[in-house]
Amino acid sequence: MPEIGYVNGSFCDLSDATISIEDRGFQFADGVYEVFVAYGDRVFKQAEHLARLARSLDGIRLPLDPATLGVEQVIREGIARAGFEETMVYLQVTRGTAARSHVYNDDVTPTVVATFKAKPQVAREKRERGLSVITVPDMRWPYCYIKSIALLPNVLAKNDALRRGYDDAVFVAPDGEVREASAANVFVVRGGVLLTPPGTDFILHGITRAHILDCAARIDLPRDERPITREELSAADEMFISSTTTDVLGVTRVDDRAVGAGQVGPVSRALFDEFRASVARDLA
Ligand code: PLP
Repeated sequence: MPEIGYVNGSFCDLSDATISIEDRGFQFADGVYEVFVAYGDRVFKQAEHLARLARSLDGIRLPLDPATLGVEQVIREGIARAGFEETMVYLQVTRGTAARSHVYNDDVTPTVVATFKAKPQVAREKRERGLSVITVPDMRWPYCYIKSIALLPNVLAKNDALRRGYDDAVFVAPDGEVREASAANVFVVRGGVLLTPPGTDFILHGITRAHILDCAARIDLPRDERPITREELSAADEMFISSTTTDVLGVTRVDDRAVGAGQVGPVSRALFDEFRASVARDLA
């Protein structure tokens, strides 16, 4: 199956896709993105992803309606052209191409690009064993609800974690509040209650996060969106992270300490099962 690229109205082989050096996304990270997953031709939670894309565009003062950009049609056609059973769609909108200047014109033509690849699979061994994470200071800007393409802090944190032998990094605010992982939201289970940090501007409002809270409600799991401290991570019975591409992924080690029994716990497993079942139901 070919990996497909899309640039401003045209599909091509991914390796043939190009944009201008003066695209503001390239020079200023002046853009936002979304990642969707499709099973067959059905995109999971497409409406929610498009609503978040609209919020992100609004957040960078590029108030375009994804419908006007023809995004849904691009996604549909790209998935059909690529022909994967499960597709990961990366879609990026930037403030377009212009002579490099911090000042932008309001009448820019945005650049819309997308890639269509097979959905990456989490190795079974990793799912079984769970991840290890380090905690790192959150040095990002206070608008992380915007799915900005400016991801350097996330990139550096993730790579520092890997270099130190961990799988991922979790951002912790100066006051000790846990925020999110480098590309995923964070959950813990304590005393039978599912906890996740509240949906403030400091975290991305994960589509998977929201879906997991729905799953928890369906299996009668008590849940709370409230601040979680760094200490509570270590003291948790269970921990996992969530994202569109990884679903529910257990975390069994934080810094130098095991989480709970050091194994992916029963609540995480029950939620993962309900998650898979609900995806199947949603797409049926
Ligand atoms: N937080 C960050 C920083 C992310 O980059 C992502 C996904 O890429 C998430 C959370 C999870 O969001 P979603 O569940 O919508 O994929």
